[in-house]
Amino acid sequence: MTVRVRFAPSPTGMFHVGGARSALQNWIYAKQQGGVFVLRVEDTDAARNKPEWTEGILSALDWIGISRGSYEGPYFQSENAGEHRAAAARLYESGRAYYCDCTREDVQARTGSQYQGYDGYHRDRGLGPGPGHALRFRTPDEGTTVVVDLIRGEPTFENKLIEDFVIARGDGSPVFLLANVVDDMTMGITHVIRAEEHLPNTPKQQLLWDALGVKPPVWAHVPVVVNEKRQKLSKRRDKVALEAYREEGYLAGAMRNYLMLLGWAPSGDREIVPWSVIEDEFRLEEVNPSPAFFDEKKLRAFNGEYIRALPVAEFIDACQPWLTGTGTIAPPPWQPEEYDAEAFAAVAPLAQTRLAVLSEIVPNVDFLFLASPLIDEAAWTKTMKDGSAELLDDAVAAFEALESWDAESLKSTLEAVGAERGLKLGKTQAPVRVAVTGRTVGLPLFESLEVLGRERTLARMRAARLRLV
Ligand code: GLU
Repeated sequence: MTVRVRFAPSPTGMFHVGGARSALQNWIYAKQQGGVFVLRVEDTDAARNKPEWTEGILSALDWIGISRGSYEGPYFQSENAGEHRAAAARLYESGRAYYCDCTREDVQARTGSQYQGYDGYHRDRGLGPGPGHALRFRTPDEGTTVVVDLIRGEPTFENKLIEDFVIARGDGSPVFLLANVVDDMTMGITHVIRAEEHLPNTPKQQLLWDALGVKPPVWAHVPVVVNEKRQKLSKRRDKVALEAYREEGYLAGAMRNYLMLLGWAPSGDREIVPWSVIEDEFRLEEVNPSPAFFDEKKLRAFNGEYIRALPVAEFIDACQPWLTGTGTIAPPPWQPEEYDAEAFAAVAPLAQTRLAVLSEIVPNVDFLFLASPLIDEAAWTKTMKDGSAELLDDAVAAFEALESWDAESLKSTLEAVGAERGLKLGKTQAPVRVAVTGRTVGLPLFESLEVLGRERTLARMRAARLRLV
């Protein structure tokens, strides 16, 4: 039997990191089993679907390594509507489902209490199809439904506690629960690996598989992803969109490595490992069923390590979207013609060791590409104290006299200027840094000045000096 798994996102919003995690787990499982990964877009909720969300999912999957053309699909659930209706009809004809026109209020009036589920009123009343008649599945009165789950063992559900649930609405349209089962059946899915949120639906779905006469798949419900307060990650509260991480400058390699650690770890005391190790070592059965904490701080640290591990040339390439404003990345604060690839290449190795995410490249190098630096006023006030004006005067004079404009000479020269005032280098360089870069922190100062060049450095120092009059 060939293993066939599927990833079945609903295109109702930005692509969620939890979804990306499930997709990767499906992807690896298929690969390990010599199986097939199917992508099915569950687009039957017409009111909430948008084509751009579908495109977003495809491109986010592509980014994370599940590339277009290397899987089966995408299929679209809406294209399968005929099959869904046929299955509903089969269940009705075989007596496994029946029509019902009760409203919630009707049921409540009969049971005289809060609505606690459907009471089975129409089970044997022989109502036929018609407008406003929903189709309900006749659940067994006895016995249990045992869900075989690779991660959770055998969750067991009492059939008598499962109400006769709706499988097609009053307008005849099949509900998601049924469509999802029918699609899995038609597509020959053998393993359903999906988020824990769907576990409560699983006994109902398994009953549908049985009633339709097909052996149910093996299930694996992967843990819910939570924030630091142990709340389920929500798009209203948390940063959940994979696209947001991409735009901030997370590397796909770091992201997918981190996502695979949600509920699982490679052997030894390692977390950052090559993708091939994850592909070898990942075991779906070993995934911890408890909620998995999505720790953005840890992800940032991961990403920093991945950035540092890049060959410099790749780092330079990887920064281009932020430096030149390509793609969906917001344009940088300088004009395209002000960007200087050579200057960037000169400081790139210094920047590479300092970034956690690639977007941070902009405040680190903007001073190189702007006609005058963006002055951070708070930094200016904090740094420019009594004596800064004279210090800048002396520094300008000393720099003007330099024969060779290189980091080492600049450093020893400024050191000497500070020493005359009994200042350590840190204190001496602060006003120079703010004058030239506009900020108190950044790349190593003297290398920065070397790349910026004599003229521009001196002009900025003089301009700052004038502001201090
Ligand atoms: N479309 C469903 C979702 O996005 C997935 C259902 C499933 O995986 O069975 O939550």
